[in-house]
Amino acid sequence: MPRFRQTTEILKLMKKKENIRNIGIIAHIDHGKTTMTDSLLAEAGLLSPRIAGQARALDYLEEEQKRGITIKTANISLLHDMNGESYVINLVDTPGHVDFTGKVTRALRAIDGAVVVVDAVEEIMAQTEIVTRQALEERVKPALFINKVDRLIKELKLNSDEIQSKFARIIGDFNNIIEIYGEPVFKKKWKVNPEAGSVAFGSALHRWGFTLDKTKQERIRFAEIVEAYEKNKHQTLSRRLPLSKAILDMSVKNLPNPVEAQKYRIPKIWKGRLESEIGQTMLNCVDDGPTVMCITMAQFDPQMGVIATGRLFSGTVKEGDSVYLVGVGKEYRLHQVLMCVGAFRDAVDRIAAGNIAVLSGLDLARAGETLVTAKYKESMIPLEPVRYISEAVMTIAVEPRNPKDLPRLVEAIKRLSIEDPNLTSTIDEESGQYLLSGMGELHLEIALKFLRQYAEGVELAASSPVVAYREGIQKIGEAVTAKSLNRQNMFCVQVEPLESRLLDLIEKEEFTEERRRKYLKENAENVWSVDKYGNMLVNSTKRVQNLSSVKDSIISGFNWACRAGPLCGEPLRGIKAKLIAAELQEDAKMRETTQIARAVSRAILGSILTAKPALLEPIYNIEISVPVQWLGACSNILTRRRGKIRFAEHKGGLSIIMGHIPVAETFGLTDELRSATSGRAFWQCTFDRWDRVPEEVASEIISQIRARRGLPLKIPKPDKFIESAE
Ligand code: GDP
Repeated sequence: MPRFRQTTEILKLMKKKENIRNIGIIAHIDHGKTTMTDSLLAEAGLLSPRIAGQARALDYLEEEQKRGITIKTANISLLHDMNGESYVINLVDTPGHVDFTGKVTRALRAIDGAVVVVDAVEEIMAQTEIVTRQALEERVKPALFINKVDRLIKELKLNSDEIQSKFARIIGDFNNIIEIYGEPVFKKKWKVNPEAGSVAFGSALHRWGFTLDKTKQERIRFAEIVEAYEKNKHQTLSRRLPLSKAILDMSVKNLPNPVEAQKYRIPKIWKGRLESEIGQTMLNCVDDGPTVMCITMAQFDPQMGVIATGRLFSGTVKEGDSVYLVGVGKEYRLHQVLMCVGAFRDAVDRIAAGNIAVLSGLDLARAGETLVTAKYKESMIPLEPVRYISEAVMTIAVEPRNPKDLPRLVEAIKRLSIEDPNLTSTIDEESGQYLLSGMGELHLEIALKFLRQYAEGVELAASSPVVAYREGIQKIGEAVTAKSLNRQNMFCVQVEPLESRLLDLIEKEEFTEERRRKYLKENAENVWSVDKYGNMLVNSTKRVQNLSSVKDSIISGFNWACRAGPLCGEPLRGIKAKLIAAELQEDAKMRETTQIARAVSRAILGSILTAKPALLEPIYNIEISVPVQWLGACSNILTRRRGKIRFAEHKGGLSIIMGHIPVAETFGLTDELRSATSGRAFWQCTFDRWDRVPEEVASEIISQIRARRGLPLKIPKPDKFIESAE
């Protein structure tokens, strides 16, 4: 039985789909997303009103946590009453910063409407545009909240006319974003309009807000709001014009319910046949059809293990259901179905289509996964991947200052990598340090902050971030032979650049068993292994006695080589290693695994050194928006840092520069761009590709990495690898 009155009522309402709204709040950083969320929670009785607006919900919740309540939910369900009807508002958290666009986009998959918060003083900023654009791409309908109006009155001391024209400019610019990025069928309908009630104005800090119809209803004029501030009576505003009512009324009236939304969202996010059973149940948001859910966030809870939150597009989830995760290919029986009411997770009986559900017990669930009723596991086409390319391009090493804290660090890393699929962790075998790799400096900085939080009390030492490189080749190498230490087994390997089509498939993890078999048929090449960095091992030998008995050892040798190339110990990329001959000792005792793996690895590395090896570096796509007068300054900074500008366009008073920049050249970019533009430049970087480091720079970088790894400064000659040197 649910613990809360709210939960019971929400559960009742969940079946009445026209009374559900799945919404998120998105904003440029500092425009007031957190403050507004707190106000909404306070109003719903989920946070003490005294606390909202003063302390952050998070601080309050930390207090709660000390008393043993679990927090930090990805979603909160609220009840909202309007005109005598009750509505369920599922408020999905959309993490804030652009470096986490991956997370923002995944969260957008769960919602049908978004309230975009814009600071009335700063107006529309780069991230307002980026997140709104992403919402439009997912067919999430926007509504606008113009926040911090108190500052226009109190600090800027603008008069009513000036305030009106500021509002008009913000609304105009916002609709311009919809005009540019909205799809033709939606953009006319989706533009916001104060007269239609799709724009709210107010102050999240002082917890008041209104839409135009509300002021008419309340017979309140804007001049009275100004007056309230002048007379220092603004506290009365939150009683007359409560913010949460303005925002939630606006959402109910202007943002779609799941039945409406799924009709146009499903064709965009699912490429299966819409006439099929699953297609129809998703399009119509049907409760008693197969379950289809998109996991939008996975979190680790010390008591419950992995907790997966997601949007249920069809069917009903209940305890004991057999379900299947399409991506990892694993079947489960559902442990528990939960609902989040404020800071609490409450176990419930079932949750029906069109809602946000929280499931426990799915250990391999990760953001972006599709979950389906087990019976449909063969036929289910997963939902479209949330469009997002991420590559781990920067690494930091972490270790506890006190070695006895290592288990706690390991536990914290495990938890973090469940929650953040863009983070990878490995152990550096030589130093025993944990290496965390992520998408950029800021990503790692935040990851570290979470680690410190999860391993509270453990003192952690972290290195500065370094760029992740790869080692590739530019031509076919020579056939190189290496013997095992006991000189009884011999392997001959030749490397060549892997066809880019294959490399692409491997990197996208699409080189499946079926493709492997097809490849063998078409090319007569027997693929033994592919690794995660984009390399392939092929067996081209004929009739070698006992070869199959050492296949695993040979694959291990291939994996060793792939992990650390000969130039400076960075992973290999895009290499096809062909085993072309082998001689094996008849006596099985002489075919020792490690020795064989080592010999194979040496042969591969030796052949690479004859194949014009090259250092590859990660390149970012960079998008900078900046007021026109600083376009030149930004372009200069980019070019000085080996960047290239692809094009620049003007929008309103802003210039948008699109270009490329090597990841290695982005250290300190934040400060430089900021100081060159008086803090007016905003940008975001996403991974674009691996590219060859120009020769004049490469040797310096190789020397630095070799020094860092404690390798001899000179790159070895191929013959070092030919015979066992031991
Ligand atoms: P977020 O980064 O979008 O989550 O922004 P926050 O909610 O953290 O707000 C950033 C800063 O703006 C904080 O110092 C808030 O107190 C302040 N702030 C938020 N809303 C208002 C408002 O309506 N009026 C004023 N004056 N300050 C606000």
